[in-house]
Amino acid sequence: MDPKSWLRKAIGRGVKTPKRKALPDGVWIKCDGCAAIVYRNELVRNLWVCPRCDHHMKVGAAEYVALLTDEGLDLEIAADLVSVDPLKFKDSKSYKDRIKAATEKSGLRDAIVAGRASIDVSECALAVMDFGFIGGSMGSVVGEKVARTMREGLDRGIPVITVARSGGARMQEGILSLMQMAKTAAMAARLREARIPYISILTDPTTAGVMASYASLGDVIISEPGALLGFAGPRVIRDTIKQELPEGFQSSEFFLEHGMIDMIVPRTEMRTTVGRLLRHLTLESAKK
Ligand SMILES: [Zn+2]
Repeated sequence: MDPKSWLRKAIGRGVKTPKRKALPDGVWIKCDGCAAIVYRNELVRNLWVCPRCDHHMKVGAAEYVALLTDEGLDLEIAADLVSVDPLKFKDSKSYKDRIKAATEKSGLRDAIVAGRASIDVSECALAVMDFGFIGGSMGSVVGEKVARTMREGLDRGIPVITVARSGGARMQEGILSLMQMAKTAAMAARLREARIPYISILTDPTTAGVMASYASLGDVIISEPGALLGFAGPRVIRDTIKQELPEGFQSSEFFLEHGMIDMIVPRTEMRTTVGRLLRHLTLESAKK
């Protein structure tokens, strides 16, 4: 007897089947900001911003591309680039295995996607990082894709936008990951020389080697509210300088107050704000 017909018979005899209590996975999501349990669909509609406390939840590169652009990425830039392991690095796991596991988990080839896109009807070259791939760390693939996105902007005379979310340089690539800081910074300088507008969007968290290179070199630097921004973590700084740190000194609000960024824009207004900036900046650069 197959199990289903056995069950039907058993039910017919008045055997009670256990009632399903559990909801399907991920229907309700707990907010890290206020601990409220929020309905997933409500979060999706609100671009993963908590409707109760405005906490901006972390989203992957694909979600960010979808919320920022009119129709997603058109013509991906360097889509086939993958990391090699020239140092044969191994900590608790080999770097090769780490890359493989991250690729399987995220469906991405590295911690960034890039391509041409239109934002509120303005054309641009866009690169968006993904924290889910080895903490959004910048190795040679991330650095190269940022540089090539900037080159696309240079070659085509279109503005460049990057969305950063990163723990910093990828230690498994050693000096090669640090070189990406110089490479992306040099490309940002070339954009400036060519008077191509470059907008850098910072999201939670943007730290270390990414913050210290291209992410802080935008003509306009925008951050989402409540994002952790900075170079080293607060504990490392406190232990090094042996001083108490001011409260909230690594938040986007503190950065704005001290002139390190230009504006804080809620995610729900990001597309229209960036679109407006692009129209304004392209008009300005066309005049010169
Ligand atoms: Zn909340």
